Amino acid sequence: MFSIYQLFGVNSKEQFADLISAKEHQDIIRQHRSELISSRIYPFALVFAVLVPVWGILDLIFLPAEVSMQFMVMRLISGGIFLALAFVTKKLKIGTKRALTCLVVMLMVPTLFYQFSTPLIEKSELTGIADILIHLYGLLPYVVIASLALFPLTLKEFSVLSLVLGGLSCVGLYRADSSDITMLLVQMWLLMVILGVSMFSSLQQVRYLISQTVKASYDGLTKLLTRRAGMDIMESLFRATGLQHSNFSVLFIDLDKFKSINDTLGHDMGDDILKQAAKALGNSIRRGDAAIRWGGEEFVILLPHTDADAAKIVVQRIMENGLATLPNGKRVTASIGMAEQAEDDTASWKELVECADRRLYEAKQSGRAKCICPDGTEVKFLEPCDYQIC
Ligand code: GH3
Ligand code: MG
Ligand code: MG
Repeated sequence: MFSIYQLFGVNSKEQFADLISAKEHQDIIRQHRSELISSRIYPFALVFAVLVPVWGILDLIFLPAEVSMQFMVMRLISGGIFLALAFVTKKLKIGTKRALTCLVVMLMVPTLFYQFSTPLIEKSELTGIADILIHLYGLLPYVVIASLALFPLTLKEFSVLSLVLGGLSCVGLYRADSSDITMLLVQMWLLMVILGVSMFSSLQQVRYLISQTVKASYDGLTKLLTRRAGMDIMESLFRATGLQHSNFSVLFIDLDKFKSINDTLGHDMGDDILKQAAKALGNSIRRGDAAIRWGGEEFVILLPHTDADAAKIVVQRIMENGLATLPNGKRVTASIGMAEQAEDDTASWKELVECADRRLYEAKQSGRAKCICPDGTEVKFLEPCDYQIC
């Protein structure tokens, strides 16, 4: 049966909800979306920072002196704002909220320019090139609304932006010429059509971004984050927690005697155990945490804003819930190394992971089926590593 979701190219309610609002977007999608929005603002802001003031030369040549001077002041202010936007979006790593704020600022500049220029223009009777220049200003509202199509925006974000920008544009069109109601209605209709097309394009970009990010960031077998995606997240998480001087714990987990599981029960069973373990790990952590398949049968768990004591509770939960069960009923164990940013005084996420890896090695050396914590204490699995297949 045909559903409304298919109209937007998605297959489920959850995927559709991701197009409506960014509330449930995963961190990695937020990160990619803010990068994409910033990277699209940057070239426009840079080009406009130059073009907007330079175009003022034409105003000075063809428009009456008092109008062109006022336009020049507005153009210089606009150019300055565009330059600042180009700097922010190129030099600073910004989150979704800031990227959206930059977008609002970028689109508000021509919108307000149009609002302020309308009363200046209507006073003057112009002909020839001056008349053409003035008519070009009349296209600004359409340009602003059409440019929304360039950005991956959710339905909520698009609605708020288009209400503000579309509303201001309609007011501007009315103020520019309210005598011809038929023409005004035609202009508003055109504005609505452009708005509809932009909205569709914007939502499709969100959908495409999510599907591509998911494909590139999640491991096919375990559905956990890939090592590459995990490293990106760690980089930004580490920077964030480092700046806030808050805690950040990492668990390096390696399944015990996994090779013998593969050798005895076959590779397919090995894959099944990996899937079970990944699911169990995912179920044992909170929403803001992250589980990464680091390689083969190794996993890394990121616990932001979590000190070693709180991380110990997560480890106990993982051990109690169990990772996976073998056909003979025995539970699969793992060796775990824990590291914590503040306690281990690490300067980078790489050092933090290396520190957890060293403790994992200690856990392997001292009998497996346990976690070694930063203070040297051990948390043990309920049962030792004795699969009877090793
Ligand atoms: P230890 O307790 O010391 O960690 O022993 P181990 O056998 O787990 O360690 P080792 O690193 O020697 O073995 C890891 C094995 O994991 C070897 C490799 O064949 C297997 N492996 C890696 N990736 C996959 C996978 O995707 N599927 C399956 N089934 N096995 C995998
Ligand atoms: Mg290993
Ligand atoms: Mg292993």
